[in-house]
Order: sequence, then C-alpha cells, then structure tokens
Amino acid sequence: DLTDPTPSRDESELAIEGALRPGSLADFVGQMKVRGQLQLLLDAARLQQRPADHILLAGPPGLGKTTLAMIVAHESDRPLRMSSGPAIQHAGDLAALLSSLTPGEVLFIDEIHRMARSAEEMLYLAMEDFRIDIMVGKGAGATSIPLDLAPFTLVGATTRAGLLPNPLRDRFGFTAHLEYYEPEELERVLERSARMLEVPLPAGSRAEIARRSRGTPRIANRLLRRVRDYVVVHGGSATEESVDAALDLYDVDVIGLDRLDRAVLDALVRRFHGGPVGLNTLAVTVGEEADTIESVIEPYLVRIGFMGRTPRGRVATPDAYAHLGVRHADQSLR
Ligand code: ADP
Repeated sequence: DLTDPTPSRDESELAIEGALRPGSLADFVGQMKVRGQLQLLLDAARLQQRPADHILLAGPPGLGKTTLAMIVAHESDRPLRMSSGPAIQHAGDLAALLSSLTPGEVLFIDEIHRMARSAEEMLYLAMEDFRIDIMVGKGAGATSIPLDLAPFTLVGATTRAGLLPNPLRDRFGFTAHLEYYEPEELERVLERSARMLEVPLPAGSRAEIARRSRGTPRIANRLLRRVRDYVVVHGGSATEESVDAALDLYDVDVIGLDRLDRAVLDALVRRFHGGPVGLNTLAVTVGEEADTIESVIEPYLVRIGFMGRTPRGRVATPDAYAHLGVRHADQSLR
C-alpha cells in the first residue's frame, strides 16, 4: 500500500524486498560515510579475529538498516539472528535469545527502542561483559544466577535514536545515522532493481521515480513495482507518461509526498494557520499515531524545508504554503 508509510509488509512484498537487497557493502548505494566507517570496523575485527563492536543504526524506515545488518553478518562471515524490540517484552525473552547465540553470531534487534525496560537493563551487562544475571524465585528467596554468554555483535536499529536510554546508547561502539538519499543515488538503486525485476526503465522514467521516492530506497523499489504493474496491465513500456499515470493513481504527488504527508501539511497550513502546533494535536487531527508522524512523516518534511520544529510546536514554511497552493497569511493578522 503506497499511501501507508508503515505498511504491514506481507509475505510477497517481503520476498521481493529480500531479493532486491544488496548483499555486500560494495553493492550498497550511497551512505558513503557510514559505509567507510562500517568497513573499518569490520576489517579491524577480522584482523583481530574477534566479533565486531556493537553497532547502532538510526534513521527513518526504508533507508537500509536491515540490509546493513545483513551485510555486517555476511561480510564478517558470521551467522545472523534477527529479532525486534516488540518481540522482547520480558527480560526472559531476551535471556532466551542471548543464551542461544553461537560464538561470534550477529544479533539484529530492529526497533530496539521498543524493547521492554527490564530487557534493556539485562542488555547493558550482556553487551559489556557478555554475561547476564538470571533471577530465579520471588521475594526474599530470590537469587540471581550469573550466566556467561558467547561473545556476539549486536546490531540495533531504531527510527528514533533519541528514545534510547543513554546507558544503552553508550554501549554501542559505533552509531550510524542514515540520511535520506539523493535522487541520483535512488536512480542507482532503481537501475539495479529494474534489472533484477526485468523492467526496461528509460533514464527519464528512472529520474522521475527517483524524484518522487521521498529519498527512500524502499519507496523507490515500491514505486518501481507499481510502474511495472501499470505497464503489465496497460501495455507499452515504462515511459515517463506511464510513470506519471501510475504514481498519480497511487496519490504520490510531483515531489513524492503521499496522502499522509499532505494531510499533515494541510492540517498545519489550513487548520492551524501555519502553527506552531503541538505534535499530539497534529497527530489527532490527521488520525495518525504521534510516533508515526514524528519518526516517519516529519523528518522528510523538515529535510525538504516544508516544516520546522520550534519549542512551541511544529510550523509550516512558506515553501509548504506554495506547494499546497495556499497564500501565505499575513502573520500580523493572526
Ligand atoms: P530499513 O531496515 O531501514 O527499514 P531495509 O534495509 O529493509 O530498510 O531496506 C528497504 C529496501 O530498500 C530493501 O529492499 C533494500 O534492498 C532497499 N535498500 C535500502 N537501502 C539501500 C541501498 N543503500 N542500496 C540499495 N538498496 C537499498
């Protein structure tokens, strides 16, 4: 579903996404700085024959965090175990996971900011000393039994690094902040994906999809699949006209904003006269979770200069007014 920024990814979508995932750092497009940093980290670990330091990957959804975790495991020739914050609701869940790791295994925890607090505390010790304390019994008779773990590399992913408690953040040897991609980089992602999906994609069409992908490889790949669908159904080839028609059908506007992006801007501009307005009020107005607005919608709108964050709340910029075709109200009249 194109209109949903955090769609529940169904099996087939996941399978296609998996197939399009680059398998090595060399194939990973963009994020030059992060790639260089990761490369050094992995090379050093390999030379010293030890597991790499723990790695935190921060950034909006779809920018390649899971892909990088897979690459870390692959490049260091280690098995990968995947889990996620929401799946770790008790310290016991984490204890079971950690105690079953084999030496050197890479443990990926997606959405690590959503892990239970009690598990977080267990993780501190595990990351630092490869050891956990397991509590047995209750009340006065409770004792803790120390348990040694196999050394491992934790790769945590979060859309909101700011939500992680400091003691947890501090235990990562390296934090990578993933940035939105430039259109030229998305073109390279699309070029590779089009080849793999066997969709002939002329340069102009590729550029057009890249421009409308919100700086996000996952969205670029998804739009490409919708264009492919369009061509399959309507015949012809992936001309710029077909790209236009397909993306319009899915409410992706000329600069790539989707329904929810526009709903947020629209509320900000029309309903709240440009703000400032609090995040929660904005979320209720558009009927979306505050967390989604803050971690998915806002970062991109801020990045393209349509929205600002002030201590008193969110504000719309003149560019946002222009995009919506609304005249910028005279501030003094409010
Ligand atoms: P995240 O975990 O940050 O939500 P993923 O790693 O699942 O994002 O990436 C989403 C999709 O985008 C995958 O299909 C992946 O192949 C593609 N992708 C992400 N980053 C890149 C990149 N730098 N180069 C090529 N493809 C990418």
